[in-house]
Amino acid sequence: MDTLNSAADGPELAEPYLREVLGMAGLAVEYVRAEANTLFLRGADGGEIPIADFAGGYGSVLLGHNHPEINRLAGELLDAGTPVHAQFSRHPYANRLAAELNRIVHRELGVDEPYFAIFANTGAEAVEAAVKHAEMDRGMRIAALREELERGTDAARAAVAAGTATVPGRVRGRFGLTAGQSDAAALDELTDRIARDNTAQTERPPLFLSLEGGFHGKLGTSVQLTHNEAYRVPFRSLAAQARFVPRDRPEALKEIHAEERGVLLGLTVTDGQVDVVERAFPVFCAFLVEPVQGEGGIQVLTAEFAAEIQRFCAEIDCPVVIDEIQSGMGRTGTLLASSQVGLRGDYYTLAKTLGGGIAKASVMLVRRDRYRREFEIVHSSTFAKDSFSCTIALKVLELLEADGGAAYRRAEERGEALRTMLESVRADHPALVKEVRGKGLMQGLEFHDQSGSPAASVRGLAESGLFGYFLAGHLLRAYRVRTFPTASAVNTLRFEPSLRVSDEEIARLEAGLRDVCRLLEEGAGEVLSGSAPTP
Ligand code: PMP
Repeated sequence: MDTLNSAADGPELAEPYLREVLGMAGLAVEYVRAEANTLFLRGADGGEIPIADFAGGYGSVLLGHNHPEINRLAGELLDAGTPVHAQFSRHPYANRLAAELNRIVHRELGVDEPYFAIFANTGAEAVEAAVKHAEMDRGMRIAALREELERGTDAARAAVAAGTATVPGRVRGRFGLTAGQSDAAALDELTDRIARDNTAQTERPPLFLSLEGGFHGKLGTSVQLTHNEAYRVPFRSLAAQARFVPRDRPEALKEIHAEERGVLLGLTVTDGQVDVVERAFPVFCAFLVEPVQGEGGIQVLTAEFAAEIQRFCAEIDCPVVIDEIQSGMGRTGTLLASSQVGLRGDYYTLAKTLGGGIAKASVMLVRRDRYRREFEIVHSSTFAKDSFSCTIALKVLELLEADGGAAYRRAEERGEALRTMLESVRADHPALVKEVRGKGLMQGLEFHDQSGSPAASVRGLAESGLFGYFLAGHLLRAYRVRTFPTASAVNTLRFEPSLRVSDEEIARLEAGLRDVCRLLEEGAGEVLSGSAPTP
């Protein structure tokens, strides 16, 4: 492929190591144009070489690259001198976008409670906004709880001082209070003890719940919710930690709760006796979940697990943040993939295709009952909620909703065609292909681990940690097909093309995948890595 795209572009100053890795896997090419489901390379002869795009901007171009209606609108907006940045003024376009998102979300969920929208620029930023909001809400709930408990303590103190209540032996014994004290002294000792215990609880950092394999971004907090250790561990001291729940063991939720739960203590007076009451301390700040895990290897959340999460979170009053950044915006046949498994979120995050392939836009939605208006004062971003990206995002929704939702149906239909092809490859190569997973235009094909291959060249690919990238390099060189492995599961190739993907492109991908399987079976790892020519 180097001969296809060998233009010198100076010393490597922009992320030189990544460029090296790309080069190694045969993916260091430059795309010069994009249209619908095609990216174009500049060939050695100066002509364009079309590449079928199954990577789809990591899920950002469901409508296709440079959608004519979106580009036309972008041109019109710029020509008309749209006030792209008019921060801290009325933003009717943002309001219209929030209203339209609500209309669709209500239809899909069958609810009518409004979701308020907080805008951001990238996926990870929307996740950070959700987490920050959830933490603000948790802090306010804790403050309200402490006030309520303090009112109880004050009432107990007054009752003991007035001689209308005593501290019974049962309570003195349970807390090991100094023997023989007056009721007033015993109450002082008890309230000190309770205050110490309560402070120890409230000083615990919040705890998040996330699924094994989950990916929620790479910023300071969001990376702590991303399961992949390589991304997360170097930064663990930057933010609160998550407990990761195995996808196949919903009962782990109860175990984690039993290990982490805490209580706040307070006092009450019943029948002239002071008693100690326990109230659950909200240590769990939020449960983050992707309805279809993207970077974790295209793993579909089952309706059963979704129901477990919903039940568990309702029981402990832990908000559910549904991360639809990769799965949402119509890719799986509905705006929210989670609506198909009956999961309802307190929060949603959307990004990627929201920007129509040209704008950088994301949004966090939060259910009215959870909403804290104070958040709007403490959270903001210079670039978020601008007129350009909001107007483009509105257009995206219009295109998804047009003709009674034809785009959603097309995502399903194209997804089915893709999936049928992938399944047929798996059926013919069961020793190599472990599983095909996904929904709509979010499909993954997982290869069995090849580190035990009899061929040293194939073992080398597996042991490099870049297995899927080498396969992607071969597909690009030999089949003019662009795909990538998922970030945290490199044995899974992901396919997230646009609605414009054609039967011919799916057939080309099939030919490429069958060739990959054949080369793996023949032990021709050097062809896959590009160090030997394609036979
Ligand atoms: N959440 C999910 C589910 C994602 O797939 C991604 C990106 N792959 C993110 C969050 C982070 O989005 P961004 O790269 O725009 O920060």
